[in-house]
Amino acid sequence: MGYKMTVNGKTRLCGLIGNPVSHTMSPMIHNHLADRLHINNIYVPFHVETEELQQAIEGAHALNVLGMNVTVPYKTDVIPFLDEIDPMAKGIGAVNTLVRTEQGYKGYNTDMTGLCRAMQTEGIRLDGEEIIILGAGGASRSVAYMCLYYKVSKIYLLNRTVEKAQKIADELNEVFERDAIIPMSLMDFDRIPVKKYLVIQGTSIGLYPDSEACVIEDPCFYQLAHTGYDLIYRPFQTRFMEKIEEAGGVSYNGLGMLLFQAIDAFELWNHIEISDEVAMETYELLKAETKKA
Ligand code: NAP
Repeated sequence: MGYKMTVNGKTRLCGLIGNPVSHTMSPMIHNHLADRLHINNIYVPFHVETEELQQAIEGAHALNVLGMNVTVPYKTDVIPFLDEIDPMAKGIGAVNTLVRTEQGYKGYNTDMTGLCRAMQTEGIRLDGEEIIILGAGGASRSVAYMCLYYKVSKIYLLNRTVEKAQKIADELNEVFERDAIIPMSLMDFDRIPVKKYLVIQGTSIGLYPDSEACVIEDPCFYQLAHTGYDLIYRPFQTRFMEKIEEAGGVSYNGLGMLLFQAIDAFELWNHIEISDEVAMETYELLKAETKKA
């Protein structure tokens, strides 16, 4: 898409640090928001090598770069190079947004504030709920932390490698001082008490181009879901989401999370609030882009 923005002496730079970065939709979101709101920013991807991460952060500060996003594989590695860190990002142990301060950058985790905001927009409650999370990788660990932070009462954390679910349970149950996470193997879902849960799909199974795959095939599992939330957004409708709907549940993909992590970062950098109207308009752009795949 084309942008009407003009680069001049007052333009501020924002960017994304990662490796790889060529697949990212973040420039599209941020340049659209800047254009739409007449903010003189420009957003570009930066491919950074591991051994140059510290120099990249320090160099960005020296160049007066307003803000940065951080993606795979640097969300944790970047922490030692920050001047300050938001408490939730610190607890999660991962940062995806850097906000410039006088002395350096302050790190935030807008992946999780964004997911929370996307869920609120969709009317999904966390407070007091019992939920199921599939997966125990980086994304699922962050989601478990965020859900406990927003007071879910119990999490059944199911993973292929049960030791990884156990490790997250041990760590987070200690941090939150309650036995809220119950780690389990994916195969043991029939031990979960029969009622309806919010199920968050945090594994990489079903991601394009392996779009026909689904982390749990057995239709009985989907009887446990009133809502299914897949963190994957490509394809737009995952197999997991189809199975949730076939069992009578409501399903969402991860595009809202992607949108709101960007919106939260944009708001932090520019000290503004993005309206629902602009958020929805940006969502439609992203949706069209995602459906191209
Ligand atoms: P990760 O750390 O690599 O974790 C991968 C997870 O998938 C692990 O739980 C792993 O289980 C499981 N898995 C992989 N292959 C499997 C298989 N064949 N059978 C069963 N389980 C399998 O990845 P991540 O960073 O957590 O990301 C997970 C997903 O979240 C990705 O699809 C990513 O696209 C999505 N995500 C979306 C957003 C967004 O903005 N919407 C943001 C971040 C991530 P084991 O532990 O047993 O290997």
